[in-house]
Amino acid sequence: MQYGHRAKILAGGTDVLVHMKMERIAPQAVISINRIPNLDRIAAQGGYLRIGARATIKAIECDPLVQSRYQALAEACNSFSTTQVQIMGTVGGNLGNGSPASDSAPALIAFDARVEITGPDGKRQLPLEEFSWAGQDGPAKRRVAHRCHSASATVRNGQRVP
Ligand SMILES: Cc1cc2nc3c(=O)[nH]c(=O)nc-3n(C[C@H](O)[C@H](O)[C@H](O)COP(=O)(O)OP(=O)(O)OC[C@H]3O[C@@H](n4cnc5c(N)ncnc54)[C@H](O)[C@@H]3O)c2cc1C
Repeated sequence: MQYGHRAKILAGGTDVLVHMKMERIAPQAVISINRIPNLDRIAAQGGYLRIGARATIKAIECDPLVQSRYQALAEACNSFSTTQVQIMGTVGGNLGNGSPASDSAPALIAFDARVEITGPDGKRQLPLEEFSWAGQDGPAKRRVAHRCHSASATVRNGQRVP
């Protein structure tokens, strides 16, 4: 908290560490979220699928619920460039980048994903499409949650098919 925007959150590090090595960024503090309990959980909860910000791309792809109900998301995770990036990279980091080239965002948006943001003023949620491109230095995105519309929701040409 004391470092404000001079601090950088570290999840899988596949982006942060590359940028630091290339001297594009020089944060005064690097704050790992890797020991926060349950932040990697993927679970159905109250009609939603909740994906913890530190869930890895590989874990999301391989999750049985994602594979059975959210195939487009599983396929999006599978399309990440390399196995190493899939194993280390997280969904929180992928969205935290704010990159329009994010591979997870289109599928999550198609499933009406909402982002839960936790900051000094508490928690709030907003639709992913309103959040995703807002920049890289926002408050911690603790969870992505989206409503389980139906057991057979699929995505075709970016449109969810009921
Ligand atoms: C060789 C290579 C290949 C790649 N291929 C792909 C690809 O095919 N598709 C793709 O979409 N991306 C790709 N990426 C980008 C990157 O790997 C992904 O975006 C990955 O999901 C980032 O996750 P991470 O946990 O490693 O993020 P980190 O590097 O730890 O963090 C990334 C950013 O998000 C912020 N952040 C992380 N977690 C949180 C949080 N909980 N709350 C707030 N901010 C947070 C960090 O401060 C940082 O700004 C690639 C990167 C590399 C180096």
